[in-house]
Order: sequence, then structure tokens, then C-alpha cells
Amino acid sequence: MQYPWRDYKSYLEDRYGERVYRIGLDGGFSCPNRSAQRTGGCIYCDAKGSSAIYQRENESGYTRKSKFIADIDAQLLSPAQKNLEQRLASVTHQIERGKRFIDERYPHSAKSIYFQAFTSTYDAPDTLRALYDHALSTGIYKELIISTRPDCIDEAVVELLSTYQSKVDAVWVELGLQSGNDATLAWIGRGHLVRDYLAACHRLKMAGVKVSAHVILGFPQEADAEILTTAHTICESHPEAIKIHNLQVVAGTRLYDLYRQGKVRVASFSDHIHNTILLLRHIPSDIVIQRFLSETPAHRLAAPRDFGDKNSFIIALSKEMQRLQVTQGDAL
Ligand code: SF4
Repeated sequence: MQYPWRDYKSYLEDRYGERVYRIGLDGGFSCPNRSAQRTGGCIYCDAKGSSAIYQRENESGYTRKSKFIADIDAQLLSPAQKNLEQRLASVTHQIERGKRFIDERYPHSAKSIYFQAFTSTYDAPDTLRALYDHALSTGIYKELIISTRPDCIDEAVVELLSTYQSKVDAVWVELGLQSGNDATLAWIGRGHLVRDYLAACHRLKMAGVKVSAHVILGFPQEADAEILTTAHTICESHPEAIKIHNLQVVAGTRLYDLYRQGKVRVASFSDHIHNTILLLRHIPSDIVIQRFLSETPAHRLAAPRDFGDKNSFIIALSKEMQRLQVTQGDAL
């Protein structure tokens, strides 16, 4: 299907001639923003660190556990690891689990390694190398994808990541920007500024590492002008891809406390359609759109509860952009 934006599925098919599925991993990392010296994490962080649904062994949302997976669950370690040996064993376990999950749905499909949870460059370079090497040694993968924060991209990390370019087709870093407005980043408690994102993005791109910037729409203090500022930051940094999320209120977060006190309103489905179109129209048309919505398991999500799923959002977004006769980048 032809969408009025640069669609991720088509991008992968154009580049690799087939669909490529990610094996999402928790490498046992923590996050500097959750340390005692900081604010206790981002306002919306529930300390799950964005693990893949099928890797959340204690989540009731994971209901398709096969006997094979149940058996290795029983034998092996939980994701909260203590030493490198245990973390490597956990990665092996998670890759087996991820492969089984993907292959049950898409047999013989191509795969990528995705260190997804928490800040996956927040460790000593030797430890990072051991974890990345180990994951890639378990099979043939198209891409190595690492999720992290702008303040955890130093020269040593960039140098290490660039060494993997000869081992996979592409090395990506998923980099949290969230907003192009420093006032919003302060409200979130992100612990970095927009300029830190710009510097990290520049370093990675200079080394040939692709960047996917994460952006959240629907902050209570952000209207069209603030979203356009975020779009401007995306233009200035020009990542290869972005992931768009709608702000969600998750139980157990500081944002949840504010929501319960009536101090925060979350964006509705139609608000998010409006915000997404505004952003898309003001970013370059070659930036791949990898995601449009957050995906918190329903049993932990406080708001918005009546949002519909990813497919209904994509259909509604596409229809609305066609009705308005607009496309990604057409307002630049
Ligand atoms: S950067 Fe991610 S893991 Fe760290 S506090 Fe923010 S949301 Fe949580």
C-alpha cells in the first residue's frame, strides 16, 4: 500500500528485498536518569525500560507461551542480571525466545538484533562489546540496533558501534529526543538538552551509524508551535528514521500521580492524528517513519484507554492526509 509518508515496511523491503523482524533484547542495562543523583527517571518511565512484549516474562499480556519457551523460561535466568556471564546467558535465552516468537508467525524470516530495554550503551566499552558480539554470534542478522540516550553516546561508544558496520548491513542507534523544546525536556526530567541530542546525532552520523530519533507528541504544555520546534530539530539533525509516540500515562509513574490529581490531560485519537500530520508535513520526505503510537500493555495503561490499535490509527491517518491532500515534507 502507498502511504503519504515514508513507510518502514516498504523501506525494509526496498533495502533487503524482504521483511526483517527485530529480536528485542534486554541486555541487563540500567539508565543514568534513574540514578539517585537524577530526578528518578523520566516522568512517564515505569522502570520496565521499554522491553519487547514477548520478553516480559512476568507480564499477563504475554499469553502465547509455547511449551518450548516455557521450558527454557524454567531453566534460565530472569532479565535482571548481576554479572556479565549471567547477562550473556540471558541474551542467549532471549534470542531463542524471540526467534521462536517470530518464526511461529513469519517462518524463515530475516532478523535483526535490537538491544531495546533501558540505556543499551550505558556500560563499560568491554562489556558493551561482549554483549553485542555475543548477540551477533548467535546467527545471521541484517542489522544491529541499539536504543539509548543522547548523554550516553561518547567517542568510545561511537567507535565501538562503527566496528559493527562490517558485520551487519546496517548499525542503528535509536536516540531519545522526545521533544525539541528544552522546557518540555525539563518537565519530563530527561536529564539532557536538545543540544545534547543534536551533538550525539552528529557524532553517530559522521561515523556512518544510522539514527532513529524517538519523539513523543501530546505533551500537555505543547501546542502546534512546540511541535513545529520539534520538527525543526528533526530537520536540523536529519536522522534516517523517527519513531513517533503518543504520550501515555502508565501506572506507577510520576505522570500517573499528576494525572490522578487532574493536572494532566492526554491527547485523544483525533489530537494525535492532528499532531502527527503537523509533524510529518514539516520533516523531510526521506525520513523513514518506524512507528506512530506507544504500546503499553493494557493492564498497566491508565490513559488514554479508548485509543484503538496501531492499524486503525494508520488507516485513519492515511485517510485524513489524503482528504487534506498533504504528504510528509510538503510544508517545508
Ligand atoms: S531514559 Fe528511558 S529508561 Fe531512562 S528514565 Fe527515561 S524512559 Fe526510563
